[in-house]
Amino acid sequence: MQTSDIYHTQGIKGFEVKSTKFSSEVTVRLHQSSKNPQECSVCQSTDVRVREVGLRKIRGLPCGSKKVCFEVSVFRLDCNKCESHCREAIPFVSKWARHTKAVERSVIDLRREMSIKATAKFFGLDWRATKDIEKRHLKTKFRRIRLRDVRIIGIDEIYVGKKKYKTIVRDLISGAVLFVGQGKGGDALLKFERRLRASKCKIQVVAMDMSSGYSAWVKRTIPKAEIVFDHFHVIQLMNKKLDALRRTTMNKLDEETRGQLKRKRTLLLNNEENLSETDHAQLEEIKETFDELSTTHAMKEKLRSIYRTAKLREEARALFEDWIKAAESSEIAVLKTMAKTIRSRLEGILAYWKFNELTNAGMEGFNNKIRWLIRQAYGSVLMKKDIVSILFPTQNS
Ligand SMILES: [Zn+2]
Repeated sequence: MQTSDIYHTQGIKGFEVKSTKFSSEVTVRLHQSSKNPQECSVCQSTDVRVREVGLRKIRGLPCGSKKVCFEVSVFRLDCNKCESHCREAIPFVSKWARHTKAVERSVIDLRREMSIKATAKFFGLDWRATKDIEKRHLKTKFRRIRLRDVRIIGIDEIYVGKKKYKTIVRDLISGAVLFVGQGKGGDALLKFERRLRASKCKIQVVAMDMSSGYSAWVKRTIPKAEIVFDHFHVIQLMNKKLDALRRTTMNKLDEETRGQLKRKRTLLLNNEENLSETDHAQLEEIKETFDELSTTHAMKEKLRSIYRTAKLREEARALFEDWIKAAESSEIAVLKTMAKTIRSRLEGILAYWKFNELTNAGMEGFNNKIRWLIRQAYGSVLMKKDIVSILFPTQNS
């Protein structure tokens, strides 16, 4: 291996290759090419004594099927000025790590597709080291940010199993988690409320779920902020209503005819344009047999179309007004309650057109990320408590 190889393939700068040994793995002895004057890490004095104290083995990126190991001399610095002792840092290795920074970057890339075990095996690392790399990466990614700088937040509840919920507050611009509360509704946000008051925040927009109990909390705590119910949450609520109707309709049927609606949930709830031909035919059959379901399904699609067609807020307002009128005159209970909800939250729904681009990042993607992490945790080495510490670093503050 040549000096230019380790620069181009392993991201190592300022070191020369002294020797390369090939056996079951490739061992590369490195030597720092130009030594800068050493300085004390405590007082920055250059009046230091330098001693070589040993050889450090560092795992690099594999070369073909062979594992690569770098050997670097480790120096100890004794400061003549402040009398402290420290070890010289190796620039291409994170503190305390036994692998290069290039390995860390590749681990993060591969972890999107592979389990921790498989990734660790591929790089010849211990699984604990692999897990730590990921934890460190996520911690910097979701590092704590100052509340005073936050302008747009999203509040959402997520179901964490066993009938338990967590309330999550995120900065929708950076994606950082600002707070995690136990349970749902305004009470879950009490601790966050204290932090808000102390921070003199200037939050302008709060995005949230339609059915959640957070709007009263926002009006009381951050009265100047505008509430936005985004596209995803409006359609989500409509789908809940549609599915409730499917179930009540199904329960009125006798055993024989019930099968027509059983396990047909996705058929009704999926976006019409995403259905296969057979699904489409089945959906048509349902719509021909059940009038109320047919009307409600059409109203759901009509609601979705508002988001596709309306470019301006006032256009959207007219379309929502039409929708509400149609729903109110329908004599279908779920549509009437949906109309009532939309009417009472219309300004928040229309605010979506004002802040469209800002809230589009949305909570949806984030919830998927949590689900992915929890799935990774089952039967693997990433523990639930790790997930919590990764996602919710502000929890104990
Ligand atoms: Zn010193």
